[in-house]
Formats: sequence, structure tokens, C-alpha cells
Amino acid sequence: MTLTQTDLTGRSILAGESVAGTGATVHGADPATGEALEPGYTLIDEDQLAAATAAAEEAFASFSRLDPTAHADFLERIADNIEAVGEELVARAMAETGLSEARLTGERGRTTGQLRLFARVVRQGDHRGVRIDPALPERTPAPRTDIRQRKIPLGPVAVFGASNFPLAFSTAGGDTAAALAAGCPVVFKAHNAHPGTSEIVGRALADAVAEAGLHPGVFSLVYGQGSRIGQALAADPVIQAVGFTGSRGAGLALVATAAARPVPIPVYAEMSSINPVFLFDGALQGDVDALATAFVGSVTGSSGQLCTAPGLVFVPAGPAGDAFTASVERALATTAGQTMLTAAIADSWVAGVDTLAAQEGVYLVGRGREGDTENAPAPAVLGTDVATFLDNEVLHEEIFGAASLLIRYSSPEELVHAAGQLEGQLTATLHLSEDDHATVETLLPVLERTAGRILAGGWPTGVEVGHAMVHGGPFPATSDGRTTSVGTLAIERFLRPVAYQDLPDDLLPEPLRRANPWHLNRRLDGRLELAGEQA
Ligand code: NAP
Repeated sequence: MTLTQTDLTGRSILAGESVAGTGATVHGADPATGEALEPGYTLIDEDQLAAATAAAEEAFASFSRLDPTAHADFLERIADNIEAVGEELVARAMAETGLSEARLTGERGRTTGQLRLFARVVRQGDHRGVRIDPALPERTPAPRTDIRQRKIPLGPVAVFGASNFPLAFSTAGGDTAAALAAGCPVVFKAHNAHPGTSEIVGRALADAVAEAGLHPGVFSLVYGQGSRIGQALAADPVIQAVGFTGSRGAGLALVATAAARPVPIPVYAEMSSINPVFLFDGALQGDVDALATAFVGSVTGSSGQLCTAPGLVFVPAGPAGDAFTASVERALATTAGQTMLTAAIADSWVAGVDTLAAQEGVYLVGRGREGDTENAPAPAVLGTDVATFLDNEVLHEEIFGAASLLIRYSSPEELVHAAGQLEGQLTATLHLSEDDHATVETLLPVLERTAGRILAGGWPTGVEVGHAMVHGGPFPATSDGRTTSVGTLAIERFLRPVAYQDLPDDLLPEPLRRANPWHLNRRLDGRLELAGEQA
């Protein structure tokens, strides 16, 4: 029976077992009122963590060899179990995060949708990357042996969720879904800002493991402090990769730990991004008020607590840019602060805006009003020019929450130069007309080296989960810009290729056997051979 809010236990789930920690107790809190939420969650110790990772290692042999149908059914079962909890999941997440019902209902749909999308990937099987170079015994001067390649899962994976997506970047979120789809058992470090939500989803996932008849070590949910249990998890020799979404500080601490291990492992950390927007003159010839209102909506949605929120906007100097700036001020004045995720995040946002406003050459463009609840500071937009921006590192830092900086530029050359000075970003957004194409052509090569996703029109918030999406980008947007944490390509992070040379057919894994029993598409001598076309 899947757990609901009314029967939360306050315990970790270690390989299917509900286990009380030996350490301190932490409570979630309603950020709108400051009220502590029951139950308290007991934090586990290193021995208890080691039991979870040992179980994950035990589970790896059978889980990594699951056939595509059983594997995909398991992922779909997780989605079904999450939905079966019903509205109590959304209610608990609302209480713990202050996010709205509509936002969390949408996020639940995204979470179950990405699990089902990965199920389709697993059924179809292209991620196994089958390549076959058949033997060429007659080749001269030397014959070629039979070489077959496929990708295998890395081993148990540690996953850390973020506070701002209690479902889609948390217990059964994108990293967990990608790792499980790859065939890797997961040990998930619960986020202490939404412990009850984590337990509800964790139980739904652990139930799916049991219902599918899998080894219980396929999934564990552990409660502990990041700086202690999170670090111990990344250092555990069983763990073969880390998936992380959160702050730059915590992400870098995990990268350092993983690199210092006797056997280093990859860390896929999504960290900080300010998501520059480039407004061109042509885009400001249309409905400037509509553009400004849409921008303010993107900055303030979810209290600005989105990793893709537009924190920087390049606005041309001159009357069109002035009109946009004035319109932003008017649109912002109609907004009110919304409850932020935690008191600490709200305090950090206030400190960040105060610091930015105090910098020489930075001025206030406009503010909304404070919200009616606690931890709901007034949204803010500030302004400066390119020279000031380039001269001061403080202006390049992410302020997590509803704030943005408008940078006035005076020429296309200045804009392209400034773009080249930006740190790595998740996104870069262009608002342009046909008249701007010549400038954009010179800007695009710069942006390709800076960002993981380049948009024309629209706003970067709202990330489609699909096959072509990249939610990644150069450092510090991520610790490894070669990949993505959203979309089906994310599965690649938890796989590695193995080649088999001249193995007898019955010793080969199913994906590589001559009869192709799993009906996989394969690269035969480099040429793609679709399963339906094979003899
Ligand atoms: P966070 O404070 O970094 O926490 C994330 C997780 O890391 C938590 O489970 C936390 O444990 C753990 N942790 C903290 N310090 C650690 C350490 N030294 N070693 C190991 N683990 C540690 O981040 P957050 O508050 O959840 O999220 C807000 C930040 O994430 C913002 O800066 C935002 O921009 C960023 N973010 C980025 C993306 C993206 O895709 N790039 C997406 C969402 C959010 P505790 O529970 O014990 O603190």
C-alpha cells in the first residue's frame, strides 16, 4: 500500500526497510508560517548508509541485466504508484515548499511523464548503443576479428535533489529516472527542505521495486546532513557516479570529494546560471509592454526560484530600450512577492539584492511589493551598463529568486564582447527581428560556447522533457557540459561502452547476439541497421 501524508514515519527507507536513524531529528517547515511540520526525520549514521550502499551493490547484478520489458514495466509502475498517492502528495509538497498547487500538480505530471518517457527509451533500446564490426577473415594484409560493442550501466549511483523542484528534481526526478533507466541502483539523499514529500515518493518507488520482484537494494532513500552523509555517500567505494542539482557550493564540494577518491568517479552537477537574454532593437519595435510583462512573469514565476530564470537582460541604449525599461518598472509594480522555499533562501535572496544594489553604477529599475506571508520579499529589477558589468564580478553572480539585472548596451560589437565574458550558462535567449540577423550571426558562435540551450523568442523558464532537450552547459552551469540532466540523453551519463572481441555467441550478452533477441537497432560496420530491416 503506497504511503500517504497521514502515515509518514520520519524514517529512511534502506533497501525496502523503514529504518529510524541514530542521529538528530529534523523537521520540514511551512515557509509561509515558519511552523515545523510533523513528523521529525531521524538522520542516519555512516553504518546505516553503508548498509544501503551494500544492498545497492548486491542489487546491481540482477538489475543491470533486466530484460527491456520488465525494466520498462518497472519504470511505469513507479509513475503509477506516484499517481496513486493522489492529492496528498501535492498537499504535502505545498506545505513544505510554499509552491502553488498548480505548479506542483504540473511538476508531478512532469515527474511521472519523464519516468514513462524513459520506459519507452528502455523498451526501444537505442541507449544500449550496439555496434558490430563483423569478422573479416579474408582481409589483407591482416584479417579482422569480430568486435561487438554495447553500453552497460556504471553501477550504483548517488542522487541529490534540489529544494526548488521537490518532485521533478528530487526523489524520483530526472536523475533518479535516468539512472534507473540505465540499469543503475540509486541511493537518494533526501533534501531536508521537503522530507515528507521525499518519503511519500520514496515509498511509492520502493513499493514499485517490491511489486516488480526486484532486489530491494535497487532503491534507498536516506535522511542525513549533506555535509556529512551526503559526503560519505559520494566517497563510498560502491557508488560509481553522482547526479546532483543544487547550489554551486554543494556541487563543488561533491566534485572535490569524488575526484579525491582512490577511484575517482564522475559527478554530474547542475549548479548556477543567470541565463542571459539579448534584446535587439528589432524586437522592441513591436508590443514592448507585452514583452516587458512576459519578462516580469518569467522573473517572478515560482518566486524566481528556477535555475533557468532570466537573471540578466541586455537592453539596447536609446528610446526603444528606455521604453522597455519603463514598461518593466510598471509591470513589476503590479507584482507581489510569493513565499520562498525556506527562510534561509529568502534571507540569502535579500542579502544578494542588497549587495547588488550597493555596487557602484547599479541602480534600481523597479520593485514589486512584499507578499502577505513570511519569506515573500518584493521582486526587484536593477540596471547598469556594460562597462560596469564587465568590471565587477559581483554582477555576474546568481541571485536565487525573483531578481534580474538589465544591462544597457550601445552597439552590437559591445554586446558580442560582453557575451564573450559570461560564465557558462544553462540558457541564452534572443529576442530579434529579421533586421538583427547579421548581428545574431556573430553572436551565435559565442553563445554556443557559453550555453547549453539557445532560444529565439520566448523565455528560458519551462524546460521541455524530450529527446532533443539540453539542460546543461559549461561550468558553472554544470560540472560537465558534455551532457544534460533533462531529457532522454541524460541516460548516457550512467552508461559506459564495453567491447567484446571474438566471444562465442552463447557467451555474448543478449543485445549483441547474432539473432538479436531484443530486436535492437544496431550499427553494422558503422551503418545503422534498423531492427525491422534485419534478416
Ligand atoms: P543545496 O543547498 O546545494 O542542496 C542540494 C542538496 O545538496 C541537499 O540535499 C543538501 O543537503 C546537499 N548538500 C549541501 N551541502 C552539501 C555538501 N557540502 N556535500 C554534499 N551534499 C551537500 O541547493 P538547494 O537549496 O536545494 O537549491 C538551490 C540552489 O540550486 C540554487 O542556487 C539554484 O540556482 C540551484 N539550482 C540549480 C539547478 C540547475 O539545474 N542548475 C536546478 C535547481 C536549482 P541538505 O539537505 O543537508 O542541505
